[in-house]
Amino acid sequence: MLDWSDTTATPKAPAFIPLPEAPADATGLGTIDRSGGRVSVDEKRMINCRADVNQLLPLKYKWAWEKYLAGCNNHWMPTEVSMQADIALWKSRDGLTEDERRAIKRNLGFFAASESLVANNIVLAIYRHLTNPECRQYLLRQAFEEAVHTHTFQYIVESLGLDEGELFNMYREVPSITDKAAWALKHTQHLDDPDFKTGTPENDQAFVRDLVAFYVIFEGMWFYTGFAQILSLGRRNKMVGIAEQYQYILRDESIHLNFGIDVINQIKIENPHLWTRQFQDEIRTMIREAAELEAAYGRDTMPRGFLGLNAALCETYMHFIANRRCAQLGLAPVFAETENPFPWMSEAMDLKKEKNFFETRVIEYQNGGALSWD
Ligand code: MN
Ligand code: FE
Repeated sequence: MLDWSDTTATPKAPAFIPLPEAPADATGLGTIDRSGGRVSVDEKRMINCRADVNQLLPLKYKWAWEKYLAGCNNHWMPTEVSMQADIALWKSRDGLTEDERRAIKRNLGFFAASESLVANNIVLAIYRHLTNPECRQYLLRQAFEEAVHTHTFQYIVESLGLDEGELFNMYREVPSITDKAAWALKHTQHLDDPDFKTGTPENDQAFVRDLVAFYVIFEGMWFYTGFAQILSLGRRNKMVGIAEQYQYILRDESIHLNFGIDVINQIKIENPHLWTRQFQDEIRTMIREAAELEAAYGRDTMPRGFLGLNAALCETYMHFIANRRCAQLGLAPVFAETENPFPWMSEAMDLKKEKNFFETRVIEYQNGGALSWD
């Protein structure tokens, strides 16, 4: 069963078998080794693997395969969600305050481009260096889900009649959004260099840094305040169609996050020399910086705040989430102990507790054998 609380069991340590000194074909597209022996589980590795990456079986990392299956079971399309109520509210004169409109537009603008950044990073940077077929199987599924998420923003723009250029270009026009995107991109930029190769401690750490920037920070921290903003409006019966779509995105992202955490923890187990005290401090600094960027974005997006939501609450939530991510990575917390100011966010992951919200969709998906949330 899909555990979609965002806690993660640390993968177990494998029996360590030294790698053979054969030339690596990390891509799976090199010359076929006609005399290559059959792959054994013990030869499989997260990174720098020399075993054939084209052989899914035997499976080594069951957690990766389970996440692939869970992702497939959660299939949804944004166009299945009715936008009628949102359209009526958006077009009404006084259904939303100016502050609410600003927060909604910035939120949509942040996500619209971010889904592409995440997709491009997994396809163009991560996939090439993650030398394990079951993890790649999940990455292929995740890549499609990111396409569905980008589709969601296209559908919202079209439904509400929003200015598409304003929304999709916001990551270059609104400095508090640009700052977050630029911060994450600096960790991916050298990985898509065709000459970049893992295999040295320095480059392997660069790869882990990119995993942290995108899985733990982009998807695991910044997206979560974004979800909280829209779901908070949804709880007040505002923009319920978008809120429902965000709940599906949140369900997908919680698996993306947990996959990323499992990948990082497994790389740690297989490459303990990378996880130095200094490197751990560096990762903690990244998480702290990311929380500060989010706080600045919150102040910019919600200068006055509105019912149930303001920049201070979002900052507190970010501290709570940041500490949680540290714990998942086995790191000391970066902020003083913080209580979750949005306890309903964990309920938002359990539709049963939100009976009046997101009414019909759940049942329909269960008919498709898909949506079992408990
Ligand atoms: Mn996504
Ligand atoms: Fe994602």
